[in-house]
Amino acid sequence: MTIEPIHIIGGGMAGSEAAWQAASLGVPVVIHEMRPLRTTDAHQTDGLAELVCSNSFRSDDWEYNAVGLLHEEMRRAGGLIISAGDRHRVPAGSALAVDRDGFSADVTAALSAHPLITIARGEIDGWPPKDWSSVIIATGPLTSDKLAQAILAKTGEDSLAFFDAIAPIVHFESIDMNRAWKQSRYDKPGPEGDGAEAYINCPMTKEHYESFIAALLAAPKTEFKEWEGTPYFEGCLPIEVMAERGGETLRYGPMKPVGLTNPHNSGTKPWAVVQLRQDNKLGTLWNMVGFQTKLKHGAQQDIFRMIPGLEGAQFARLGGIHRNTFLNSPALLDAQLRLKADPRVRFAGQVTGVEGYVESAAMGLVAGRMAAAERLGREVPAPPATTALGALVNHITGGHLLGESGIAKRGSFQPMNVNYGLFPEIGPIDLKGPDGKRLKGADKGRARKRLMSVRALNDLEVWLQGQMAPARLAS
Ligand SMILES: Cc1cc2nc3c(=O)[nH]c(=O)nc-3n(C[C@H](O)[C@H](O)[C@H](O)COP(=O)(O)OP(=O)(O)OC[C@H]3O[C@@H](n4cnc5c(N)ncnc54)[C@H](O)[C@@H]3O)c2cc1C
Repeated sequence: MTIEPIHIIGGGMAGSEAAWQAASLGVPVVIHEMRPLRTTDAHQTDGLAELVCSNSFRSDDWEYNAVGLLHEEMRRAGGLIISAGDRHRVPAGSALAVDRDGFSADVTAALSAHPLITIARGEIDGWPPKDWSSVIIATGPLTSDKLAQAILAKTGEDSLAFFDAIAPIVHFESIDMNRAWKQSRYDKPGPEGDGAEAYINCPMTKEHYESFIAALLAAPKTEFKEWEGTPYFEGCLPIEVMAERGGETLRYGPMKPVGLTNPHNSGTKPWAVVQLRQDNKLGTLWNMVGFQTKLKHGAQQDIFRMIPGLEGAQFARLGGIHRNTFLNSPALLDAQLRLKADPRVRFAGQVTGVEGYVESAAMGLVAGRMAAAERLGREVPAPPATTALGALVNHITGGHLLGESGIAKRGSFQPMNVNYGLFPEIGPIDLKGPDGKRLKGADKGRARKRLMSVRALNDLEVWLQGQMAPARLAS
């Protein structure tokens, strides 16, 4: 029986992994890669899986770091990107950094040598032809303009973003609720039925506010690359740009202190208030409302920890504004990563709203397995949400808060690296150290991460057992 190929558009981190997974399951694949005939503003070579900037896959510690756990899950799932990364490892302490040329050459050679994989060089400049019955679009943050326009035409004008304007996200457990409190302005439920305690509020005195503004103005900022342009629009200005417009601008904007009473100090009105809004259904992550920023990452941590209640803040993600093409995935994709409006088409990689080399490859791994299974008349369920792979799928298809209409609020879905805040909580735990004493603070946090990682690997095994294991690369 002849099996029709899966067409994968884009031979980057996600497309390469998706192709490897599908072909390893016995399904033919055509990878359509536009380079070198047409290139992007960041890629330099014609190699598949080119790393466009840093050569790091970040922490390789599976016990205590969510991206390290993702590495380990991808190893166990026979991932090409991680096995090539392991083979081309360069010294980087506890991180996995790679020789970028050797890594890309290895991935290109493995895919070129596979009998079920064809590599077709050329841009796909419109919606995939009707006779391609299974397609994965993995064209990344720099998707070519013509394809981006075709995606927009298919999905609607609010469905595709061309820049991310990211506000920092804080782990709930690191917010000091003895200083902050929950309340919506004027105790009003929001237009989409949010409760009267939908926000966490951090109060500032006049002195706090003035030193905060001074620190913002003095802090180092990152510049846009020449080709990125300056994508500011009035509704979404970086906080430091607002501060430059005048010392009071933020107090009349996102930090306005109106409609709120501080229960820890009800006699004194705050001079300014920083608000955080729940970011995931689990309630473990909260984003700083209106705090999109181009401040350098080190400066962000120092300055945002000046805010009362956030002195010990742990950030799941820091702010940024970059050129980045990504879908409003929670509204557009189903749990099989298929486009609801045209289910023969899946999306994978950074264009789905994950962030980073490893996360993008991870979504290629899942999409490749799902598409191949479908071709073989089977179905691979999404990985359990307790795994790093599943937590990412859940972020892009199910974990984000939706409005009453069931549609993700415009602009509220933003790309994310993997982090423990995306995982379901482990339940009440009473952990004891070697001395028999109950663990507290950072020690308890570390122990909790390890428990989550062990749970993830156990649950991953169950998910993998339900599928045919792809061949591992010879090492
Ligand atoms: C300037 C910049 C710097 C970055 N730095 C980092 C970093 O340091 N660390 C990190 O983890 N992440 C970084 N990223 C994010 C990184 O690009 C992604 O995490 C990762 O490469 C995304 O993988 P992907 O497979 O989704 O897309 P890519 O790896 O970009 O692959 C997409 C592929 O699709 C091809 N393509 C696009 N349109 C078409 C088309 N119409 N037809 C055919 N082929 C097409 C492209 O040529 C490309 O090969 C950076 C991104 C940018 C833009």
